[in-house]
This record gives sequence, structure tokens and C-alpha cells, in this order.
Amino acid sequence: PRMENLKKYINEIIDFPKEGIVFKDINPIYKDPMKWNELMLPLKKLISTLKPDYIAGIEARGFISASALAFNLEVGFIPIRKPNKLPGKVIGINYQLEYGEDRLEIQHNSIKKDSKIIVVDDLLATGGTASAAGKLIRKAGGDLIGFAFLVELTELGGRQQLDSNLLVESLIKY
Ligand code: AMP
Repeated sequence: PRMENLKKYINEIIDFPKEGIVFKDINPIYKDPMKWNELMLPLKKLISTLKPDYIAGIEARGFISASALAFNLEVGFIPIRKPNKLPGKVIGINYQLEYGEDRLEIQHNSIKKDSKIIVVDDLLATGGTASAAGKLIRKAGGDLIGFAFLVELTELGGRQQLDSNLLVESLIKY
């Protein structure tokens, strides 16, 4: 409920990046240190109690909050990226989009076996991206302990795509 008042700092852009999508632009929150702090504080507290070994961020907008949290909590940051961006040997996972397919990659040997990992992204929509990221963490040998998002579009049911035994936290719900 307290987070509700941050909604006025989230801009809605109709038909971006394509027709039919109402894009939630949270850049105004990042731009305001007090607002950003207010938004991140509960996540920071929660994550610190879970004591992850790493926070994994999903390219590209997920990097902003994931790396800020990792730096602040003094835990490692691991980038999960779109295809052909990471150098060297990678582990990848393909996943279905509404139209076509996409792929996420992580660096081979970036995860020490059974290390505890939380996946962070800016927004949970249908859950396809986060679900694939979670599978990728497991494929790479990590112990996936949860997901955290700044924003959740609850009507799209993304949560149902994620392992219900894990923590799934979102701060601002639409
Ligand atoms: P999904 O796989 O459908 O859960 O989509 C999640 C990913 O797409 C996240 O990385 C978001 O950054 C982005 N995304 C999807 N829908 C929106 C939206 N309405 N506004 C902003 N970003 C979105």
C-alpha cells in the first residue's frame, strides 16, 4: 500500500515498443534518489535476510536495480544477457514469446555449484522472461532461491509461470 504512491512516478506509454503494449516507464523513479531509495529499501531488507551468494540481473532494464542491490548488499552480480553479447563460453536457454522465440545466456562457469541466487528484473509481465532466467540459473548449477521485481502486472499471471516454492516478490502491483 505504501508503494502505491510511487505509481505517480511511473509513466505509461501506449503502444511502446509495439502496438497493444502499455509500457511502464520507471525511469523517473531512478532519477529521484529519495524515491528510488523508498522503492528499493524493502527489497534490500528482504534480500539481505535471504543471504544470496549472487544477484542475477536480466538484460537490460533489470541490470539497473539488480546491480544497485548487489553493490549495496555487497554480494556478487551476474548478468543474464540476450544472445551473443557475452564473451567466451556460454550456457543458453531458448524460450517462447507470443510471436516467435527468444534466448538468454549466462557465462559458463560464472556460478559456483549450489550457490544461492536471486533473479531480479524491473517488471514481471507474462513471466516468460523470468521463468527462462530461473531455468538458466538451474541449468548453470545455481540454487535458485527466488525472484524479485519492482513492478508486477498481476493480470498477466506471470507469477504462475514461476516455481511456487520460491520467493516471488514484487513491490508495485498493477
Ligand atoms: P514477460 O516475459 O512477459 O514477463 O516480460 C518481462 C520483460 O519484458 C521484462 O524484462 C520487462 O522489462 C519487459 N516488459 C514487458 N512488459 C512490459 C511493460 N508493460 N512495461 C515495461 N516493460 C515490460
